[in-house]
Amino acid sequence: MTTVGERFINSLQDGRTVWLDNEKVENVAAHPAFQGTLNTLRQLFDTLNDPETRDRVGFQSPKTGEYVHNAYLVPTSMDDIKRRTVAFELWDRRTHGVMSRLSEYARSLVTGWYAARERYQVFDRHFAEKITEYYEEARDHHRFVTTALLDPQIDRSKGPSEQKDPDAFLRIVRKTEDGVILRGAKMIATAAPYTHDFLVYPFHRIQQGDLEHAHMMIIPANTPGLHIVCRESFSSEQAEDHPISSRYDEMDAILLFDDAFVPWERVFLHDNPEAVWQLRMDETANSLAYHSTVVRLLVKLEFVAGVAFAIADVIGANHHLHVQEKLGEIVIQIETIRALLHASEAGARPDEFGTWLPDLTPIETARNLGPRYYPRAIEILQQIGAGGFIQVPSKIEQIHGELAGLIRKYYRGAKADAESRIRLFKLAWDLIGSPLGSRHELYERFYLGDPVRTYANQYLNCKKERLEQRLEDFWKRIRQKEDTPGERKPTLSI
Ligand SMILES: Cc1cc2nc3c(=O)[nH]c(=O)nc-3n(C[C@H](O)[C@H](O)[C@H](O)COP(=O)(O)OP(=O)(O)OC[C@H]3O[C@@H](n4cnc5c(N)ncnc54)[C@H](O)[C@@H]3O)c2cc1C
Repeated sequence: MTTVGERFINSLQDGRTVWLDNEKVENVAAHPAFQGTLNTLRQLFDTLNDPETRDRVGFQSPKTGEYVHNAYLVPTSMDDIKRRTVAFELWDRRTHGVMSRLSEYARSLVTGWYAARERYQVFDRHFAEKITEYYEEARDHHRFVTTALLDPQIDRSKGPSEQKDPDAFLRIVRKTEDGVILRGAKMIATAAPYTHDFLVYPFHRIQQGDLEHAHMMIIPANTPGLHIVCRESFSSEQAEDHPISSRYDEMDAILLFDDAFVPWERVFLHDNPEAVWQLRMDETANSLAYHSTVVRLLVKLEFVAGVAFAIADVIGANHHLHVQEKLGEIVIQIETIRALLHASEAGARPDEFGTWLPDLTPIETARNLGPRYYPRAIEILQQIGAGGFIQVPSKIEQIHGELAGLIRKYYRGAKADAESRIRLFKLAWDLIGSPLGSRHELYERFYLGDPVRTYANQYLNCKKERLEQRLEDFWKRIRQKEDTPGERKPTLSI
């Protein structure tokens, strides 16, 4: 009997078209660029087989009896919310928060849309039936899912129908009895080469006139006409020297839809900007999905803190006040995100369908802090490690080479021998300076959308009355004082 992890790896040879370095990748699972990452994923999937972990990671499918991931658990109690947290955390801890698209986010969106399916019956009377069928299939066959929402960055000053090229934004060019023909592209789809299905819908609101761009589909990776075009690989085969890049390079790709055919069963909404926007903003789906991202952010910041503390200690820099202040700043980041995560869970309530949802406001707040916290944490790591990141030989094996004696003498730290110090700084460099490390900083800044607009949304969507009332209270008190005999009248007039 094959394990869930083995089945995942075997499932990738399904006729998908993946491009890397101007070559078509015949078998993703056998390509060196994906080996380390797929090995990590196989081990994660296998936690569903392991009696030690399977109850923490999953639940038994009511259809097959097999353990399936808790991202597919529709929470109907506070306990279920906690079960979801535990599952996210277990996978995040095993990847140190460095792998961000373990499918939990997109799977949670599917779970949310399924749980709230009745909301969309008014837009398409087959919605509930289609999403139920997909949800059950995805859950029971361990489908790995990711999102692909943005149209290519060609001209951001114009909307879909103002573009010179009508195909600049993904659109349905034709409808047939069996499905639709899609033309255009989507960026960015992290994990695309080893994803089973893409959730495809517009990230930004589509105007009423732009009907052909207003759709939501779940598109299999092996769809004919779909090209998955990878960025340069940042993976490394040198596990000792690049401990992160050799294990956790989540490939990013652009999806090109060259008149790709999508059957009606996978077209959930179409020609309806309002319906698509409602689904994009769906509170059930977003609360469940965003929750997973905050668990990961916390785990990642804790990992960076662990590395920063160790560096400061090993080189004796934690003796300095400003270094302590900077390390304290990372602690404050961690405790803030932890408090927001707890607040979102403690504030969980059932929606109108009985699905328990973490409170979205603290989640949004934590998510918005991520794009500022993570780059700052990495900056602190640089400020503390300084030139030490370069005080490492190109290969760890040099510790045993011709210069062994000198290397042991000059590459050691105040509290570590040369080998431990070199290993630590190489790990830290993989976080801050390697191609994958740089990609991570960019990712944390942008993965949840343009931070300028997500911050603005926090203002636009907040409950303003409570805050406006504070000012009202102030004026009221001043007015009351004006009326009190013997009180000095303020000169301020309102
Ligand atoms: C490493 C990485 C991985 C990612 N993975 C995924 C993924 O798996 N799935 C997915 O769906 N997405 C993913 N994303 C995409 C991410 O959602 C987008 O990058 C993000 O939404 C920002 O959009 P953009 O890159 O198109 O930036 P743009 O919108 O092109 O912004 C470029 C600049 O122009 C400004 N700007 C543009 N338009 C406006 C406007 N109307 N108003 C104000 N300012 C504007 C922005 O502030 C920014 O400074 C990923 C991104 C990165 C970097």
